[in-house]
Amino acid sequence: MMVRTLSALECTRLLTANRVGRLACAKNGRPYIVPLYYAHADNHLYVFSMPGKKIEWMRGNPLVSVQVDERGQGRGWRSVVVDGRYEELPDRVGHKRERDHAWSVLSKHADWWEPGALKPVTPPVSDSAPHVFFRILIDQVSGREASE
Ligand SMILES: Cc1cc2nc3c(=O)[nH]c(=O)nc-3n(C[C@H](O)[C@H](O)[C@H](O)COP(=O)(O)OP(=O)(O)OC[C@H]3O[C@@H](n4cnc5c(N)ncnc54)[C@H](O)[C@@H]3O)c2cc1C
Repeated sequence: MMVRTLSALECTRLLTANRVGRLACAKNGRPYIVPLYYAHADNHLYVFSMPGKKIEWMRGNPLVSVQVDERGQGRGWRSVVVDGRYEELPDRVGHKRERDHAWSVLSKHADWWEPGALKPVTPPVSDSAPHVFFRILIDQVSGREASE
Protein backbone atom coordinates (compact mmCIF):
# COMPACT_ATOMS: atom_id res chain seq x y z
CA MET A 1 0.00 0.00 0.00
CA MET A 2 1.06 3.58 -0.65
CA VAL A 3 -0.32 6.65 1.05
CA ARG A 4 -0.25 10.13 -0.41
CA THR A 5 -1.58 13.51 0.60
CA LEU A 6 -4.63 14.84 -1.23
CA SER A 7 -4.53 18.36 -2.62
CA ALA A 8 -6.96 20.98 -1.33
CA LEU A 9 -8.96 20.61 -4.56
CA GLU A 10 -9.15 16.81 -4.16
CA CYS A 11 -10.35 17.28 -0.57
CA THR A 12 -13.05 19.68 -1.73
CA ARG A 13 -14.15 17.26 -4.45
CA LEU A 14 -14.41 14.39 -1.96
CA LEU A 15 -16.48 16.52 0.43
CA THR A 16 -18.81 17.54 -2.41
CA ALA A 17 -19.19 14.00 -3.76
CA ASN A 18 -20.17 12.50 -0.38
CA ARG A 19 -22.98 12.99 2.14
CA VAL A 20 -22.13 11.04 5.27
CA GLY A 21 -19.55 12.34 7.72
CA ARG A 22 -18.58 11.76 11.32
CA LEU A 23 -18.86 14.87 13.44
CA ALA A 24 -16.71 15.08 16.57
CA CYS A 25 -17.23 17.69 19.26
CA ALA A 26 -15.92 17.98 22.81
CA LYS A 27 -16.97 19.15 26.26
CA ASN A 28 -14.76 19.31 29.33
CA GLY A 29 -12.10 17.25 27.57
CA ARG A 30 -14.50 14.45 26.61
CA PRO A 31 -15.05 13.73 22.89
CA TYR A 32 -18.41 12.80 21.32
CA ILE A 33 -18.77 11.58 17.74
CA VAL A 34 -21.88 10.91 15.62
CA PRO A 35 -22.48 10.07 11.97
CA LEU A 36 -24.61 12.53 10.02
CA TYR A 37 -25.61 13.75 6.59
CA TYR A 38 -24.19 17.01 5.37
CA ALA A 39 -24.19 19.05 2.17
CA HIS A 40 -21.00 20.81 1.12
CA ALA A 41 -21.15 24.30 -0.38
CA ASP A 42 -19.11 27.51 -0.26
CA ASN A 43 -16.53 26.32 2.29
CA HIS A 44 -19.22 25.08 4.71
CA LEU A 45 -20.85 21.77 5.60
CA TYR A 46 -24.61 22.30 6.07
CA VAL A 47 -26.59 20.05 8.45
CA PHE A 48 -30.19 19.66 9.64
CA SER A 49 -30.79 18.35 13.16
CA MET A 50 -33.02 18.19 16.21
CA PRO A 51 -31.74 19.68 19.47
CA GLY A 52 -29.77 17.18 21.53
CA LYS A 53 -26.35 16.41 22.93
CA LYS A 54 -24.22 17.41 19.93
CA ILE A 55 -26.04 20.74 19.50
CA GLU A 56 -25.72 21.50 23.22
CA TRP A 57 -22.01 20.63 23.20
CA MET A 58 -21.25 22.62 20.03
CA ARG A 59 -23.06 25.65 21.44
CA GLY A 60 -20.65 25.44 24.37
CA ASN A 61 -17.56 24.71 22.28
CA PRO A 62 -17.85 25.47 18.54
CA LEU A 63 -14.53 23.85 17.59
CA VAL A 64 -15.30 20.56 15.84
CA SER A 65 -13.83 18.00 13.51
CA VAL A 66 -15.58 16.17 10.65
CA GLN A 67 -14.24 13.09 8.90
CA VAL A 68 -15.47 11.76 5.54
CA ASP A 69 -14.14 8.78 3.59
CA GLU A 70 -14.72 6.63 0.56
CA ARG A 71 -13.41 3.24 -0.48
CA GLY A 72 -11.22 2.85 -3.54
CA GLN A 73 -10.28 -0.26 -5.50
CA GLY A 74 -9.20 -3.28 -3.45
CA ARG A 75 -7.96 -2.06 -0.08
CA GLY A 76 -7.73 1.54 -1.29
CA TRP A 77 -9.38 4.43 0.50
CA ARG A 78 -9.57 8.22 0.59
CA SER A 79 -10.23 10.19 3.72
CA VAL A 80 -10.66 13.87 4.51
CA VAL A 81 -10.53 15.53 7.92
CA VAL A 82 -12.04 18.99 8.41
CA ASP A 83 -11.14 21.24 11.32
CA GLY A 84 -14.11 23.53 11.59
CA ARG A 85 -16.29 25.84 13.57
CA TYR A 86 -19.97 25.38 14.48
CA GLU A 87 -22.27 28.15 13.27
CA GLU A 88 -25.97 27.89 14.13
CA LEU A 89 -28.47 29.37 11.69
CA PRO A 90 -31.31 30.38 14.01
CA ASP A 91 -34.87 31.04 12.88
CA ARG A 92 -34.51 34.74 13.65
CA VAL A 93 -34.40 38.04 11.83
CA GLY A 94 -30.95 38.56 10.34
CA HIS A 95 -30.35 34.87 9.57
CA LYS A 96 -33.06 34.25 6.97
CA ARG A 97 -30.74 34.36 3.96
CA GLU A 98 -28.26 31.81 5.42
CA ARG A 99 -31.12 29.58 6.62
CA ASP A 100 -32.79 29.62 3.20
CA HIS A 101 -29.41 28.83 1.64
CA ALA A 102 -28.95 25.86 4.02
CA TRP A 103 -32.41 24.61 3.07
CA SER A 104 -31.72 24.90 -0.66
CA VAL A 105 -28.31 23.17 -0.41
CA LEU A 106 -29.61 20.31 1.78
CA SER A 107 -32.86 19.76 -0.10
CA LYS A 108 -31.02 18.82 -3.28
CA HIS A 109 -30.88 15.34 -1.70
CA ALA A 110 -34.02 13.22 -1.29
CA ASP A 111 -35.17 12.62 2.32
CA TRP A 112 -32.47 15.03 3.55
CA TRP A 113 -34.47 15.97 6.64
CA GLU A 114 -35.41 12.51 7.92
CA PRO A 115 -32.27 11.32 9.79
CA GLY A 116 -31.96 14.67 11.53
CA ALA A 117 -35.61 14.75 12.54
CA LEU A 118 -35.93 11.33 14.20
CA LYS A 119 -35.13 10.41 17.80
CA PRO A 120 -35.77 7.13 19.65
CA VAL A 121 -38.17 8.87 22.03
CA THR A 122 -40.50 11.57 20.74
CA PRO A 123 -40.37 14.48 23.20
CA PRO A 124 -43.67 15.59 24.78
CA VAL A 125 -45.25 18.47 22.86
CA SER A 126 -44.57 20.89 25.72
CA ASP A 127 -40.83 20.05 25.54
CA SER A 128 -40.55 20.00 21.79
CA ALA A 129 -37.94 22.43 20.52
CA PRO A 130 -37.68 23.56 16.91
CA HIS A 131 -35.31 21.83 14.56
CA VAL A 132 -31.87 23.31 13.99
CA PHE A 133 -30.03 24.27 10.85
CA PHE A 134 -26.30 24.64 11.37
CA ARG A 135 -23.15 24.74 9.33
CA ILE A 136 -19.51 23.96 9.92
CA LEU A 137 -17.17 26.63 8.63
CA ILE A 138 -14.15 24.82 7.19
CA ASP A 139 -11.04 26.35 8.82
CA GLN A 140 -8.64 23.70 7.59
CA VAL A 141 -8.84 20.52 5.57
CA SER A 142 -6.45 17.61 5.08
CA GLY A 143 -6.76 14.45 3.04
CA ARG A 144 -4.99 11.16 2.41
CA GLU A 145 -5.35 8.43 -0.15
CA ALA A 146 -4.14 4.86 0.17
CA SER A 147 -3.75 2.71 -2.94
CA GLU A 148 -2.39 -0.74 -3.68
C1 LIG B 1 -26.17 7.69 7.91
C2 LIG B 1 -26.65 8.57 9.03
C3 LIG B 1 -27.08 9.85 8.73
C4 LIG B 1 -27.53 10.70 9.75
N1 LIG B 1 -27.89 11.98 9.44
C5 LIG B 1 -28.21 12.84 10.42
C6 LIG B 1 -28.47 14.21 10.13
O1 LIG B 1 -28.43 14.66 8.98
N2 LIG B 1 -28.76 15.04 11.16
C7 LIG B 1 -28.80 14.58 12.45
O2 LIG B 1 -29.06 15.38 13.36
N3 LIG B 1 -28.59 13.29 12.76
C8 LIG B 1 -28.28 12.41 11.77
N4 LIG B 1 -28.05 11.09 12.07
C9 LIG B 1 -28.25 10.63 13.46
C10 LIG B 1 -27.08 11.02 14.34
O3 LIG B 1 -26.04 10.07 14.19
C11 LIG B 1 -27.46 11.07 15.85
O4 LIG B 1 -27.99 9.82 16.23
C12 LIG B 1 -28.52 12.13 16.10
O5 LIG B 1 -28.16 13.35 15.49
C13 LIG B 1 -28.71 12.36 17.60
O6 LIG B 1 -27.56 12.97 18.11
P1 LIG B 1 -27.67 13.79 19.49
O7 LIG B 1 -26.28 14.22 19.85
O8 LIG B 1 -28.72 14.83 19.38
O9 LIG B 1 -28.08 12.61 20.47
P2 LIG B 1 -29.17 12.59 21.64
O10 LIG B 1 -30.49 12.26 21.05
O11 LIG B 1 -29.07 13.83 22.46
O12 LIG B 1 -28.69 11.31 22.43
C14 LIG B 1 -27.51 11.31 23.19
C15 LIG B 1 -26.96 9.94 23.44
O13 LIG B 1 -27.49 8.97 22.53
C16 LIG B 1 -26.46 8.16 21.99
N5 LIG B 1 -26.46 8.33 20.53
C17 LIG B 1 -26.88 9.40 19.79
N6 LIG B 1 -26.71 9.18 18.48
C18 LIG B 1 -26.17 7.97 18.35
C19 LIG B 1 -25.76 7.19 17.24
N7 LIG B 1 -25.86 7.64 15.95
N8 LIG B 1 -25.23 5.97 17.48
C20 LIG B 1 -25.12 5.51 18.74
N9 LIG B 1 -25.49 6.19 19.85
C21 LIG B 1 -26.02 7.41 19.66
C22 LIG B 1 -25.13 8.63 22.57
O14 LIG B 1 -24.71 7.73 23.54
C23 LIG B 1 -25.44 9.94 23.21
O15 LIG B 1 -24.78 10.13 24.42
C24 LIG B 1 -27.59 10.22 11.09
C25 LIG B 1 -27.15 8.93 11.37
C26 LIG B 1 -26.70 8.12 10.36
C27 LIG B 1 -26.22 6.72 10.70
